Amino acid sequence: MNYFIETIGCQMNICESDKLGQALSSYGILKVNVLQKADIVILNTCSVRSQAEQKAFSFLGRAEEFKKENLNIKIVVVGCMAERIGHKIKHRFKSVNLIIGAKDIDNAALRIADLCNVSNYSIIESEKASDIIKYITIMRGCDNYCSYCVVPFVRGKEISFNSSDIIEDCRLAVNNGAKEIMLLGQNVNSYKYDDIKFTDLVKNIAKIDGLERVRFMTNHPKDLSNELIDMMATESKVCSHIHLPMQSASNNILLAMNRKYTYGRYLTLIKKLRTAVPDISVTTDIIVGFPGEAEEDFEQTLKAVKEIRFGGLYVFRYSSRPNTRAASMCDDVSLEDKKRRHSIILKESNKISIEIVASMVGTTQQVLAEKIEGGVIEARTGSGRKVFVKCASKKDLGKQLNVNIKEAKINSLFGEII
Ligand code: SF4
Repeated sequence: MNYFIETIGCQMNICESDKLGQALSSYGILKVNVLQKADIVILNTCSVRSQAEQKAFSFLGRAEEFKKENLNIKIVVVGCMAERIGHKIKHRFKSVNLIIGAKDIDNAALRIADLCNVSNYSIIESEKASDIIKYITIMRGCDNYCSYCVVPFVRGKEISFNSSDIIEDCRLAVNNGAKEIMLLGQNVNSYKYDDIKFTDLVKNIAKIDGLERVRFMTNHPKDLSNELIDMMATESKVCSHIHLPMQSASNNILLAMNRKYTYGRYLTLIKKLRTAVPDISVTTDIIVGFPGEAEEDFEQTLKAVKEIRFGGLYVFRYSSRPNTRAASMCDDVSLEDKKRRHSIILKESNKISIEIVASMVGTTQQVLAEKIEGGVIEARTGSGRKVFVKCASKKDLGKQLNVNIKEAKINSLFGEII
């Protein structure tokens, strides 16, 4: 069977979709890139902004149309919206077969396999399949209650999973061919299980023989410790990339967002990270048009984007979410201003990204070969940039290759193996 997955939301959701895809492939259910070729249509939803929910509704409308012509396909909705308003989705879109909330996402593959009557036989067969990158969730939920965010209401209180189980899962993944482990959590920096802190966990995972890289996401600036920065500098398997959501550079707005740091503190962290790990790429999230965001506040954020020169960023227009503290604030920035500020940040970020990738042309980059299609390998640098490598062969998969960068586009690089 084949599945098509549409993912709405942040990098964390993209990772969770990849993780679900890996689990489905272990049932012999394989990914297609076109909805029309799918037996199962999956929508991974996000509730953080109302635009994200509107996007989900419009996708479900299209999926229902497709199902009218293809009665046997299954439609599955997973993630935060499924958790928050699953019953409403089911009521409005009668042809949805399965709703799986964010808290149950780890069982999603099993429930989808059940829905499609996939036998155990395929599980045993595909256990041999190797995933070069393995996504492992180390915690669930969040206790931070940023004033705009619905996640603590949808995903519940923060719970760190048993560290021995996590390490065992990583070891098993490496035995099955994984070369890179991506640790996932809403705020991995605050991971704590008994006496094991996040840095202890990563150090133990890095000891696994055969594992080449460790990444993690997402990080909260208020919990980013010197110990973690030191670990990134000294632990050679830890990738030189960190996603550190800034949200705003105005202290007034950061306070109203309940982010618990100032821009000064954020900047200090960036400086420490760059001193400890000179080639680090810092990516971020920014919200424009938060209640009370004056032009002056926005200018501070724009100035920070220019100063810090993020390796990449996601910028979102603020929208009020039910139950959150910000929902009781006056949503006083006009849609026009939100759109304008969004486009200014995006334009600046694109300009910086182009400059960064252009400066990489002619350099040698070590990349991990993740996929191959038509003789072209899709690989990634330690800093997280995608690199396409021509004239590669299947035996290069899963290897770290030294690649000379020949050409750069905004979101990808092209190179040749040295
Ligand atoms: S840290 Fe803040 S933005 Fe991130 S999930 Fe928790 S409440 Fe939401």
